[in-house]
Amino acid sequence: MTLNSLDAGPVITLTVDDCWKTHARSFEEAFDSMSLRGVFYVIAGYVGKTVGGFQFVEWDTLRQMTAVGHEIGSHSFTHTGSALGLTTKAAQLFRLVRSKGLVRSARLTRALLGLAEEYPGKHLRQDEEVAMSKVVIEREMGRACKSYSYPGGEPSSAFMNLARDAGYTSARTIRPGFNYLRSFEPYALRCQVWDEWTTARTADKWVDKAISQNLWLIEVFHAMNLPRYPYSCSESALNEHLSHIRSKQGEIDNLTVSETIEQTQRNLQSESMFQTIS
Ligand SMILES: [Zn+2]
Repeated sequence: MTLNSLDAGPVITLTVDDCWKTHARSFEEAFDSMSLRGVFYVIAGYVGKTVGGFQFVEWDTLRQMTAVGHEIGSHSFTHTGSALGLTTKAAQLFRLVRSKGLVRSARLTRALLGLAEEYPGKHLRQDEEVAMSKVVIEREMGRACKSYSYPGGEPSSAFMNLARDAGYTSARTIRPGFNYLRSFEPYALRCQVWDEWTTARTADKWVDKAISQNLWLIEVFHAMNLPRYPYSCSESALNEHLSHIRSKQGEIDNLTVSETIEQTQRNLQSESMFQTIS
């Protein structure tokens, strides 16, 4: 037995940011049709609402997604962190959340959910965005929300600390690259972002590279077939690419972000146990 035998194989994770209603559903259908699973990073304060003319996915749909194995992560509360905190009810509620840890009080939850109604289009402080979204998602989904995706994608080190302190086990950036399974920064996960110019051929090469170099590939999607939106992907390119991923079943594992984090931690633990007993 060698330490290498404990190594995890390459991993592909499919992630969707923002989760506009029709687009999130289209991605889920595409993933489901190939029996692939993904991570949907939602803007907690916008779920089920129309903000700025955009409709966002509903909680019921998200609950159905988790039932077939998709993961729901947080993409903040209102998609950005402002330097200006709301000194009103939002900040008071947040202090209450922080002092109580995970929210178990129905009264507090109702108040938190009311915030999304009360402050559409306004932004909370960064720490509020990070922590409040987790609380609201966990309450609505009835399960832990472990994964964060930075709105805007490029976090400061202070922001990374916020994600860790709020209790997430990982946070994804939009920094281009791959993650080394043996040594990655869990609060600065790298990825490959699909845009309107991404072809199936390009994306297939990411998968092939992850397989040949034993890497963790995270792909990021925002919208599908949305005209004049640069981060939209072509439906036909996506489907062709998902078929390629399916054809590599056995060579690369399709896992969610939190599953990959947990698998990596288990491997590291068994490695240290092995080192202790050998
Ligand atoms: Zn976003």
